[in-house]
Amino acid sequence: MPMTKLCRAVIMCAAMTVAAPMLAQSLKPNEVFSSLALSTLEPPNPVLGADNRIHLAYELLAVNPTKLFLTLDQVDVVDPSGAVLSSMKGDRLGEMVVATGGGRRLAPGTSAYVFLDVSFPAGATLPKTVSPRVTLTRERADAAGKPAGYPSTEPIPATVTFTGAPVTVGTKPAIVIAAPLRGANWVALNGCCDAVTSHRGAVMAINGQLRVPERFAIDWMQLDGQDRLYSGPVGTLTSYFSFGHKVYSVADGIVVNRYDQTFEQVPGAAAKEITPANIGGNMLVVDIGGGHYAFYAHLQPGSLMFKIGDKVKAGDVLALLGNTGNTDAPHLHFHVMDGTSPLDANGLPYVFRQFNSTGVLDINSADAMFAKGAPGVIDRKMLAGTHRNQMPLNLQVVDFGP
Ligand SMILES: [Zn+2]
Repeated sequence: MPMTKLCRAVIMCAAMTVAAPMLAQSLKPNEVFSSLALSTLEPPNPVLGADNRIHLAYELLAVNPTKLFLTLDQVDVVDPSGAVLSSMKGDRLGEMVVATGGGRRLAPGTSAYVFLDVSFPAGATLPKTVSPRVTLTRERADAAGKPAGYPSTEPIPATVTFTGAPVTVGTKPAIVIAAPLRGANWVALNGCCDAVTSHRGAVMAINGQLRVPERFAIDWMQLDGQDRLYSGPVGTLTSYFSFGHKVYSVADGIVVNRYDQTFEQVPGAAAKEITPANIGGNMLVVDIGGGHYAFYAHLQPGSLMFKIGDKVKAGDVLALLGNTGNTDAPHLHFHVMDGTSPLDANGLPYVFRQFNSTGVLDINSADAMFAKGAPGVIDRKMLAGTHRNQMPLNLQVVDFGP
């Protein structure tokens, strides 16, 4: 049949003739059958850490909508030119991936979070956008639902590399604030950025939206001269050197959220009677301007000095450090976020105007510190010295001054 007659009979004729080069293949060379879908929970906001590097701490949601097992082999972050800014594979990648069932393998129909910490030297010009570049390996599920390799006869290869959509890097500098505590030997537990701590890992769905309010949160606990967290019975509040310290406002602002209705928990034991309302314990949220809200949690009952609508000044005593809400030892949980609700918010970076550091706590010594009151092991050289306009990093030991 002459081509013209066939065309008359087929509605797609025009497309076949005019757009034939575009339709020559089902997937164009720049379209990769990735099997995995990636989205960024929130665009990253840069912050200068106490290591004098600018950190982009953010998260990817990886969704496996297929019937295959997908193992993440490598996750890079690239700039618009394709230059690699950060690269993780093997055990290091495994530490920064939280997948259903553990490891780096996503079972069929499951999702995972990938926690990223891309850093640059202080003063570097940051790329306008960053994109994830992922290499993964596919496996079929057998009849029992277990991974069973991948036949070479499949039309798409087992291993694939693809680049996800770019995300815009924030240009707003981190807010500069005063410290919420005074005195020496405060350790920044569960801080940012290179580990999936209980704060960074606290991705939660609120009103159908994924939120990471605690991305830059720190649990501050004070050590004594022997680098212990407490002395005396583990279950007694006053055994802890942190307990009862004054908590100071980090900036001028207005109190926009407050809770003061829950009791002190017993240290060293699982928290009791936790509800969605009291999970942060007795707490204050202060609007400190520019879309930033400071959150102070686990405060002592009856110690809150301000009520909703009150104006506070930087350095005002807000409350006393306690052990209320979801906590197992007296500490100040502090973070900055973009809304008035401590959980329905996105965590924002902040820097302290000035602090001194006397080292970094070895995480391996932490269990004995909590369980037995043992002294912590501190690397006295790491991150030591005076820091200005920087964010303390995970496990850093900090002197805030008088
Ligand atoms: Zn906390």
